[in-house]
Amino acid sequence: MRPKRLILAGGGHVHLPVLARLADFQAAGIDILCIAPGPYLAYSGMGPGLLAGRYALSELRFPIAARLNRPGGAFVRGTVSAIDPVARHIVLQDGRVVPYDAASFGIGSRVVPDFPVTFGPGEPGATLYPVKPIENLLLARQDILARARDGAAVRVLVAGGGAAGFEVAAGVLGLFDAIGLDRGSVAVAAPRGLLPGWPGRAVALAEASLARRKACLIPARMVGLCGETAHFSDGTARVCDIVLVATGTRPPGLFTACGLSAEPGGGLTVSACLQSPVHPDIFGGGDCIHFGPRPLPRAGVYAVRQGPVLAANLLAFLTGGRLTAFSDTGKNYLALLNCGDGRAILRKGPFVAEGAWVMALKDWIDRRFMRSFPLRPQPRPPGSDTGRGHEAGFPPP
Ligand SMILES: Cc1cc2nc3c(=O)[nH]c(=O)nc-3n(C[C@H](O)[C@H](O)[C@H](O)COP(=O)(O)OP(=O)(O)OC[C@H]3O[C@@H](n4cnc5c(N)ncnc54)[C@H](O)[C@@H]3O)c2cc1C
Repeated sequence: MRPKRLILAGGGHVHLPVLARLADFQAAGIDILCIAPGPYLAYSGMGPGLLAGRYALSELRFPIAARLNRPGGAFVRGTVSAIDPVARHIVLQDGRVVPYDAASFGIGSRVVPDFPVTFGPGEPGATLYPVKPIENLLLARQDILARARDGAAVRVLVAGGGAAGFEVAAGVLGLFDAIGLDRGSVAVAAPRGLLPGWPGRAVALAEASLARRKACLIPARMVGLCGETAHFSDGTARVCDIVLVATGTRPPGLFTACGLSAEPGGGLTVSACLQSPVHPDIFGGGDCIHFGPRPLPRAGVYAVRQGPVLAANLLAFLTGGRLTAFSDTGKNYLALLNCGDGRAILRKGPFVAEGAWVMALKDWIDRRFMRSFPLRPQPRPPGSDTGRGHEAGFPPP
């Protein structure tokens, strides 16, 4: 009997448990083909620490492609641009067509600047770095270091005052401190204040953390960037060299275009079993889904909780087993924010704490998470020497 083909679209956090169970899929006669733009997944929880210089990129990357370098596994570098759920194939941006027996989506979400950007001819302009993909934080770090080396201005603006906005602002301040840069500036445009929805004490601690290092809080929305000048909803403006965009995330548009989304936000609509209610051979998890039973915030904690259920359900679907419902939807999870100065803020329900011990706890949890997936490269099959995953052709499944 020919092996069945499971496509993993995106090598996101939610797919890590599937990759960890490759041997189970292989034993059940299922080939796994993962399609992602690059061979690694960067762990977002350590991203702000990458910006500040606490971590090297190699410490927070999962080698997705190398993990698939084994019989029954294949990695394809590419971007999924469409799904034909009737013909049961996926279309890549470069036109390649990949058939499947089942497909799972873990393609995450995008940060899209919600303000217009205009540059006059020959006019210098600020450089924009959306906070996703996480590798952008390394590019921002390198940009800051290069400007500092050249003696150029380093005026950083963070658009968005949520958890990611706070952490990247704090990370930049940590980087300034580490390199002894005293002519840099950081401002955060936070129309609803810092950390909306968080307990008041956490907000006060976050504000104090930025204020101590002379960051400026702008209580307005960024409404446009014209060259080097950012404009805000309160009519004020500010000159900047670097803009870190943390204005919120949204799923990519392809699910709406393919009739797989039943919500205005455009997420892949799934049932409690993380399965499309219309096309049962399509599954998904993490930031890119619209969880039908109960909308969930787009936070990695849900991707991490959903991963094992998704892996079990994909295996069950392809082998005729029973599916399990994802029920761990509680919002009272442990949240930890890196303040970029060796300290962190902790929130668990109404309980809030801050200090160096919280950062030590966060560091321990993050490093344990990195170790928890057996994603080390597999021994290579004879004749394979890419070391970057077994790049695949697409025979019909
Ligand atoms: C700075 C920052 C810090 C954060 N810190 C935390 C935290 O501490 N705790 C927390 O709970 N959450 C945190 N988050 C949120 C967290 O990053 C996301 O919720 C989580 O990554 C979602 O996981 P996922 O599996 O859905 O997708 P992701 O892990 O984002 O992975 C998506 C993957 O799909 C690939 N991809 C994208 N489009 C396509 C396509 N069209 N075709 C093929 N592949 C594609 C991407 O390259 C990527 O590999 C943070 C986010 C940011 C920006």
